[in-house]
Amino acid sequence: MTKPDRLQITVLGATGSIGTSTLDVVARHPDRYQIHALTANTNVDEMLALCEKWKPRYAVMNDVASAGELSRSLLAKSNPAEVLSGESGLLAVVEDNEVDCVVAAIVGAAGLVSTLAAAKAGKRVLLANKEALVMSGRLFMDTARENDAVLMPVDSEHNAIFQCMPDCLTENHSSVKMTNQQASAGIERILLTASGGPFRTWSVDQLHDVTPEQAVNHPNWDMGRKISVDSATLMNKGLELIEAYWLFDMDIANIDVVIHPQSVIHSMVTYSDGSVLAQLGNPDMRTPIAHALAWPERIASGVEPLNIFDVAKLDFEQPDLSRFPCLRLCYEAIKKGGSAMIVLNAANEVAVAAFLDEKIGFNDIAILIEKTLNAANITEDVSTLEDIIEADAMARIITNEYISAKQ
Ligand code: NAD
Ligand code: MG
Repeated sequence: MTKPDRLQITVLGATGSIGTSTLDVVARHPDRYQIHALTANTNVDEMLALCEKWKPRYAVMNDVASAGELSRSLLAKSNPAEVLSGESGLLAVVEDNEVDCVVAAIVGAAGLVSTLAAAKAGKRVLLANKEALVMSGRLFMDTARENDAVLMPVDSEHNAIFQCMPDCLTENHSSVKMTNQQASAGIERILLTASGGPFRTWSVDQLHDVTPEQAVNHPNWDMGRKISVDSATLMNKGLELIEAYWLFDMDIANIDVVIHPQSVIHSMVTYSDGSVLAQLGNPDMRTPIAHALAWPERIASGVEPLNIFDVAKLDFEQPDLSRFPCLRLCYEAIKKGGSAMIVLNAANEVAVAAFLDEKIGFNDIAILIEKTLNAANITEDVSTLEDIIEADAMARIITNEYISAKQ
């Protein structure tokens, strides 16, 4: 069978914030892109609506019951999409020979195995699921490199950094091949911008009383609940620090976090001749998604052009690690190395879920992560997927025990 002309896309996490933005961009370019498969956790109604609109070959639900319900609904509508379930379903639609591009937009560790499989299958991987890279770091980058995957950062900061990198590093390939060449290209530092989240100016006492509703209400970006809480604690910036460390093979001492409340500059790269290159735009994920889909070409994304006169003023501040200890914990986890980043990520996922369930307070998130990092056995060797999954599972047990002890 000959391959269709249009780029065949699998969207992992199609019902989420990034999934929705991706489909919005794809809808603008029916001549270039075709949706091959869509996946979701449990929302059958939303998946049914997406299948009606996109007519994918496959639809994957996380659990068997949701998959059965979706199958029956599709049958009633004579929709021929084949329904799969669970991790085996995700792997099938990632590894499928007909698929060119995988948008990795599942949230958290749940996306690790499928995101890694996309790299192993040598696909064009649009990486939104930063937790997968934080957990698997070197294994993920090596896998992508060995299998000629084209790794495109979707996270707005990393996409901005990629855009500010010189052509000699990104030409004909992607961030995955950018190793050890920064010095000759004159790259000195990465300036990773952060909005500072909704509580940028709040005191520790005020932070104590933050509710889940306040935490998910981000001033500039409209995102899923977990990443919104991460943005409020600055854990998101810490995870992004780790993401930049792996993606661009950059020494952590050469990455600065810069609080920039307007979220207009999405990150910067400084060069040895004194130049600082920045990527600017309205805060809308459709820009990095469109860039990552079409690179090295450019396509319309539906994002309004930035009106520089409306912006008028750009502010920059140092992050305050005492009010936002999650960022400090990320620096420490990188320095510790081994399984520390996996433990940190797992503890954060468990703590954020407990915060959203109103079992713990906002400031408890960082306290629980620190306790888990101190209690866990940090191992050096996390070179296989099994090692990573084991370290993740052990950390979750420890954090859950601390949460139970608090009740
Ligand atoms: P979201 O919560 O809006 O969507 C998550 C998606 O993953 C949904 O489609 C959901 O059905 C699916 N999912 C959740 N749990 C699952 C499971 N156990 N198994 C299978 N599928 C599951 O999240 P989001 O905001 O779109 O974020 C997705 C990823 O992109 C995260 O890793 C986040 O850090 C990253 N990211 C998001 C943004 C943003 O603006 N939203 C920006 C940069 C990076
Ligand atoms: Mg980001």
